[in-house]
Amino acid sequence: MTYVIAGGGLAAAKAAAALREQGYDGPLVLVGAEPHLPYERPPLSKSYLQGKSERDKIFVHDAGWYDEHHVDLRLGVEVTEIDRAAHEVVLSTGERLGYAKLLLATGATPRRLPGDALYLRSVDDSERIRDVLAGASRVAIIGAGWIGLEVAAAARLAGVEVTVLEADSQPLLRVLGSRLGSSFADLHREHGVDLRLGVKVEAIGGGVRLADGTHVQADAVIAGIGVRPDTRLAAAAGLEVDDGVLVDASLRTSDPDIFAAGDVARAHHPLLGAHIRVEHWANALNQPAVAAGAMLGRDVSYDRLPYFYTDQYDLGMEYTGYVRPGHADDVVIRGDLAGREYIAFWLEDDKVVAGMNVNVWDVTDDIKTLIRAATPADRARLADPAVPLTEVLA
Ligand code: NAP
Repeated sequence: MTYVIAGGGLAAAKAAAALREQGYDGPLVLVGAEPHLPYERPPLSKSYLQGKSERDKIFVHDAGWYDEHHVDLRLGVEVTEIDRAAHEVVLSTGERLGYAKLLLATGATPRRLPGDALYLRSVDDSERIRDVLAGASRVAIIGAGWIGLEVAAAARLAGVEVTVLEADSQPLLRVLGSRLGSSFADLHREHGVDLRLGVKVEAIGGGVRLADGTHVQADAVIAGIGVRPDTRLAAAAGLEVDDGVLVDASLRTSDPDIFAAGDVARAHHPLLGAHIRVEHWANALNQPAVAAGAMLGRDVSYDRLPYFYTDQYDLGMEYTGYVRPGHADDVVIRGDLAGREYIAFWLEDDKVVAGMNVNVWDVTDDIKTLIRAATPADRARLADPAVPLTEVLA
């Protein structure tokens, strides 16, 4: 009757809590590859990297919680194989562990480049980069995605000279589109970042050599060029995998006793009518309650809208919703884009599909309501801060 959770991050820890909260009182094992208690990652590229928060603040539960809730924590151990026929997982210790239900919360791993670069995924990575920033006078950052930009902000705050090298024509282009990407480019340039767009990295070593022959001098190179979902176990076990472990809206895989949640899961979203994989904190935070319900045989489904946030210098923002790849350029701005106090809305067929509030707060519920309404909005009213968000639908 054992329930096994493969993975040691936020989704894994939340799943353990959800199983107990929802009444599961049988044996529960959490197998995490890292030696640390499960922790939250957002601070690793923000306040923790900047030395503004303590290590004990990042843990999802303290060590005592696992004892109190009879969770058998196996840290520094990996699940190396799923034997579906025997209903067992094999651990890196050689032990075989029977499971009645198994949750895959194996997360994602940074994509790597050849050469000597630092990557930011774990708390150890964050501490290493923090130490590097304390001693460096100039760093090069490859990738102007969320990691690249948050690390650039931390480096500038630490007084380090920063060059950011991005392959695309704007930062965050795929997610935000070109107009908003360009506003993030301005933000970083105003804070002294040497942002180079549309460049190709040729080699790393003593800095970075670009394809046009330029050499970017740096004491250290940090790369944030995206992640790959850790689907190896699932694929080897013959589960359906396609850029993530494919799960239905209840987070169940193609095997009725195996579930997936967090960065690794590509879940059918009932509202969006498509399978999506969301590599953000809120997904790892909230999916486990649904996975736990499904593991306990309940009729549940995950239909929350994707949500994430960032803090860079004096810019704070929240993003809610989902824009299909290639549809990020139909944007309506409400407020002051240049002054960085606005809400951006992404539209498809005149319907709001996502919203990002920048230095404007307490509007996430209104944005969610607009998206869920799935009704065309009046663009002029949407753009006019004087019109309440509750009165912008056409
Ligand atoms: P990311 O957000 O996917 O951004 C990677 C960026 O690197 C993209 O702009 C990408 O361009 C670019 N890139 C890829 N290969 C490159 C190359 N060879 N040279 C230069 N640029 C290159 O990934 P990330 O920043 O590494 O973050 C890792 C994960 O952590 C993501 O899932 C992210 O969502 C998550 N995260 C989230 C937050 C937050 O929510 N605030 C903060 C930190 C991390 P293309 O798009 O053209 O490939």
